[in-house]
Parts: sequence; C-alpha cells; structure tokens
Amino acid sequence: MTSRVIAIDGPSGAGKSSVSKRVGAELGFLHVDSGALYRIMTWQCLAHDIDTADPEAVAAFAGQVAVDCEPRGGAVAYFVNGQEPGNAIRTPEINRHASPVATVKAVRDRVTAWLRDMTRFGNLIVEGRDITTAVFPESPARFYLVASAEARAERRRLEEIEKGIADQSAEEVKRSLLARDAIDSTRKHAPLRKADGALEIDSTRMTLDEVVEAVLAALPQDWKEVLQ
Ligand code: C5P
Repeated sequence: MTSRVIAIDGPSGAGKSSVSKRVGAELGFLHVDSGALYRIMTWQCLAHDIDTADPEAVAAFAGQVAVDCEPRGGAVAYFVNGQEPGNAIRTPEINRHASPVATVKAVRDRVTAWLRDMTRFGNLIVEGRDITTAVFPESPARFYLVASAEARAERRRLEEIEKGIADQSAEEVKRSLLARDAIDSTRKHAPLRKADGALEIDSTRMTLDEVVEAVLAALPQDWKEVLQ
C-alpha cells in the first residue's frame, strides 16, 4: 500500500505542531516536523562557521549535512552524528538564521528529498511551509492553518516557557516571528502560500480540539476508519 500523507502548512505559531501531533496520534500517522530539518541545516551551518547570509556558501555546504531519521513514539526522530539536537535547534539565534538558510535551493532540495523518503515509514502527517505546495502537492488532505499575529506570538511564547527556553519578551517573540514569515512568504523557491485546493483554517478563535475536529472532518472517509 502506498503511504497516506496529511500535509499542513502555515506561518509560525499557527498551531501546526500541536494539531499535527494530535491528529497523528488519533489516526496512527507519524508526525513529521519539517521545520526541524531546516533548523538542523541552520545549526550545522553555524557550527561549521558557514556564513548564513551567503547563499553560495550555504548551498556548497548543504550536501555535507547528514541526518538519520527513525520512527519513534509516534513521530519521526532526527539524529545528527548519532545525537538528537533537542533544544539546540530552538534558540533565538537559530530562529534568526533559519529563514535565510531555507531560501537556498540546495537546502530545500535536500530537505524535500528526506521528507519524501520518509513515506517508507508508513502514513505521515507532515507540517511546514511548502508541504502542500511543493513536497506532497498530490495529497488529497492538505491544510493551510493561520491565526492572527498576536495569537501566534502568544502561543509561541507559551510554548517556549513550557520548554524552559523562553528568554525573550512577547514583543521580541512577535518581531522575530513576523521577520521569519516575511522571508518565508517572499522567497523565490517554494514560498509559503496557500495551495490551490488546500482547506484554510483560521484558528485565532478556535480551541485545539476544534481545529483537530475540523482537520479530521475534512479527511477522506477511508483514512479515518480507525476512529469509528
Ligand atoms: O516550523 P519552524 O518554525 O520550526 O521552521 C523554521 C524555519 O524553517 C521557518 O521559518 C522556515 O524558514 C523554514 N521552513 C521552510 N519550509 C518548511 C518548514 C520550515 O522553509 N517546510
């Protein structure tokens, strides 16, 4: 059987991770965080003193980054040199450098190949910025999740507090998130945009349960047989 892929795109803090984890757990689809792969690319660039503002240097380095992927606990886990990056890829520094790194085509091609290869693990729910438009555009289950900038910044800040990595004010979190969105939406290769045929869900005034319900309700009938 070919694997089924649910694709979820949207700007930072729109709730993609929480929704994808919940929907994935309900259906038994593995959660795939594509942003973490761009963060790993960025982390490795910084660790090897690659100038992230120099697209040619980043492109030349992209092929050297090796990531091992392995299904674990309902998600696909990533390892670099045998170690999970953990919070090392969630710092304000990585937040700042990730979007410029993600504009580089060689980086995008490499991450896209990793993501497509993950279908060998089975059914997936993949979240990111170009999953519905470029990575899995053929999926019959594509969603574009949005929320107001205020709601997104506040959710991101609460997430950081929960992870114990909060060291920015609400205003700084919002500024960093909007700066990333601006780069992600205007870049040349696979910019963030709503795909034709994707279902847009504005979660500003919705609870997590309501968004999960809306996603489940829109899936092909035979994908949710496990729920009946
Ligand atoms: O989702 P997250 O905020 O962790 O993603 C970090 C950055 O990676 C984004 O701001 C974006 O620049 C890039 N990204 C991307 N395409 C994806 C996922 C993330 O360009 N599919």
